[in-house]
Amino acid sequence: MKVYDDIVVGSGIAGMTMALLLGRAGRKVLLLEIQSTIGGCMRRFTRGGIPFDTGFHFTGGFDDLLSEMLDKLGIAQDIEPVSLESCESNHIYFNHSHEMYDLPSGLDHMVQALCKYFPGEHDAINKYFQTEADVKSKTPFMNLHKLNNSDLEELLHDIEEDYISLKEFLDSISDNEKLKAILAGFSLCYGSPPSQTSLASHCRASYNLHQKLSRVKNGGQAFIDAFKKEFKNYDIEIKTNCAIKSVENISRRKAASVILSDGSECAMQNCIMTIHPRAILDILPAKHIPDTIRATVDNYEESIAFFSIFAEIDCHDTVKTSLTSVLSSPDLDRIISQDDTESAMAILISPETVNGKTWNTLCAFKTDSYSSVNAWRGIKNRRKDPSYQQFKAQRAATMIAQIEEIFPEYKDKIKLLDSSSVLTFADYIPPYGSAYGVMHKLGESSLWGRLPIRNFYMAGQSAILPGLVGAMLSSFISARFILGKNFC
Ligand SMILES: Cc1cc2nc3c(=O)[nH]c(=O)nc-3n(C[C@H](O)[C@H](O)[C@H](O)COP(=O)(O)OP(=O)(O)OC[C@H]3O[C@@H](n4cnc5c(N)ncnc54)[C@H](O)[C@@H]3O)c2cc1C
Repeated sequence: MKVYDDIVVGSGIAGMTMALLLGRAGRKVLLLEIQSTIGGCMRRFTRGGIPFDTGFHFTGGFDDLLSEMLDKLGIAQDIEPVSLESCESNHIYFNHSHEMYDLPSGLDHMVQALCKYFPGEHDAINKYFQTEADVKSKTPFMNLHKLNNSDLEELLHDIEEDYISLKEFLDSISDNEKLKAILAGFSLCYGSPPSQTSLASHCRASYNLHQKLSRVKNGGQAFIDAFKKEFKNYDIEIKTNCAIKSVENISRRKAASVILSDGSECAMQNCIMTIHPRAILDILPAKHIPDTIRATVDNYEESIAFFSIFAEIDCHDTVKTSLTSVLSSPDLDRIISQDDTESAMAILISPETVNGKTWNTLCAFKTDSYSSVNAWRGIKNRRKDPSYQQFKAQRAATMIAQIEEIFPEYKDKIKLLDSSSVLTFADYIPPYGSAYGVMHKLGESSLWGRLPIRNFYMAGQSAILPGLVGAMLSSFISARFILGKNFC
């Protein structure tokens, strides 16, 4: 039997972060990945030699929490941010009124721009951004110094904004539906409706994105390469195409070993799961899962899902990087609740350079319902199914037509290279293909930290916050449980 200190399940950004934190603490780590390559949502793929990202596209947190975490992991020098600083780089477009709002990166610029667009709303705008900053500073686990030095009870206490919905707060500061949609706009980056999201969760997810929006050179692949390089300096073994089949030798709610899908048995002190909560309950023996936890997990709803297109823009000049969020109406509650009549689409245009050659790329993600693909669930060779191909072609054509309407300069220049439905995402990000794991809902307890089997822990996007920063942070918090104070 092989013996490890820790087994980390799932090798997305949360799993890679966890494995490296433990490895750096001198522990012998096994990182398990069910797919054939590591990286989860950070993986890239190429079409015609052009690289595209699957999940991760942009982030906040450089010069702040993200940079601090990369620094602690020893990989900051391998990650090169590309700032979306210019005022032409971030927009919200309201489709029903054909209005484009340019939202410059950086808090001061953003506040100035919003005050110009909404002259009577200075107080509401200032109150919103003040609250966002307050929530960040009042949340101890968003401060690595506190994470390293405080007692766990102090780290994990709720704040009053955990008990107010984002919608309730926005309604209390303004009646302007468009302003409220812009302030709530980054809810598309965690995928829960404003009426069901706590003000605290929204502020934690949005704070860094409002401070500074950045892409990363070589996208998610840059992270995977940096982690792989750093893993070599520590006792970290990776097994792909491999999962936990069963948890063994459980005594006093602690498990001594696991049997893997390759038939081997491994002993460990701790096991950290960075996968979907329902997949975790499928692995833990049923009799060790309290009914309350099973009921909580059964009640979880999936966050939003997308239909995506990946294309080249066939034009001579190199495009400027820009992100445009297209909202069919300002009602984000209906958009995110999968109301078939409302939708949102994020359009990311950016140049990608590989080996000195630059392509103009376009990725667009449109909210889609899980039921849209019901007809092809469980079909083995759906890629060869004409009706599935027709469904994808129609969805992609509708999106391209909408993009050409908003950006007439790209008419007939968008060369579709591939598209992905909710089913494609489910292949990539098992088991459901939701963009951000489970919704983080007001009043619903998350499954994270220590699990019912005491030496099992949970981290990952479904734990506290989705996105690159949220998933990494969840691993820092779980590592604090395992390694104690001054762990990083
Ligand atoms: C379309 C899309 C766009 C997004 N855009 C952004 C963005 O621009 N910025 C941003 O910050 N975030 C974005 N996100 C979200 C972000 O990518 C995720 O929140 C984050 O990467 C999740 O990391 P994770 O490690 O928790 O999970 P994952 O990346 O899902 O990793 C989990 C890993 O576990 C593996 N696994 C699953 N089950 C098992 C098992 N039983 N045994 C072993 N391994 C298993 C999976 O194969 C996967 O590799 C986007 C997501 C999507 C889908």
